[in-house]
Amino acid sequence: MTQPNAAPGSPLKAAIVRVTPFEQNCTLIWDEASKVGAVVDPGGDLERIEQAIKQTGISIEKILLTHGHIDHAGGADELREKLGVKIEGPHKNDVILLDNLEKQGKVYGVDGVRNVTPDRWLEDRDTVTVGELTLDVRHCPGHTPGHVVFHHPESKLAIVGDVLFKGSIGRWDFPLGNHQQLVESITKRLWPMGDDTAFVPGHGPMSTFGHERATNPLVGDAVLTA
Ligand SMILES: [Zn+2]
Ligand SMILES: [Zn+2]
Repeated sequence: MTQPNAAPGSPLKAAIVRVTPFEQNCTLIWDEASKVGAVVDPGGDLERIEQAIKQTGISIEKILLTHGHIDHAGGADELREKLGVKIEGPHKNDVILLDNLEKQGKVYGVDGVRNVTPDRWLEDRDTVTVGELTLDVRHCPGHTPGHVVFHHPESKLAIVGDVLFKGSIGRWDFPLGNHQQLVESITKRLWPMGDDTAFVPGHGPMSTFGHERATNPLVGDAVLTA
């Protein structure tokens, strides 16, 4: 478990747990004041996630999903049952992926995967609560059609799943992917969150939107205006 550097005084805390053979960044986020939190993208390796929950001493009130790929959603149904909590997200355009997780599991040789139906689908500009905190939801299609991103403006922190990575962007070559949509999601919905906003990607190290605008070889300002 790694605890990302949050902005000083940030009310929303986060810790990353690497899960599944895809090294996905399952992220615990919590309201520091109430110690109530959420598990974002429990793709699998639930014992590792439960251990991290114990270490942080928080109580989990919900599961949040960014999108319907196996490494992000494969363990969600089982964890919901274990913790007795509800699942919020992604956008309903990912229903076809969530209905086929067991099939994805067989294709990739991952055991224990279950199909999952969230308790609440999310729309662009919805909000979700974590403890006493309110996070903004942005619909960011392109990697998958129903991908959503969670943003807490006061903490200058976003959880972006497979939309954007440090030095790269999400794959758009899957059957439901769309490159144009993905680039628009990044430039029209992520960049406005601010250059000094840090983000946890679905894979690999954290970065900030400003750093990516300056250096990202696929969506940096210099590339897109060239
Ligand atoms: Zn994905
Ligand atoms: Zn992923």
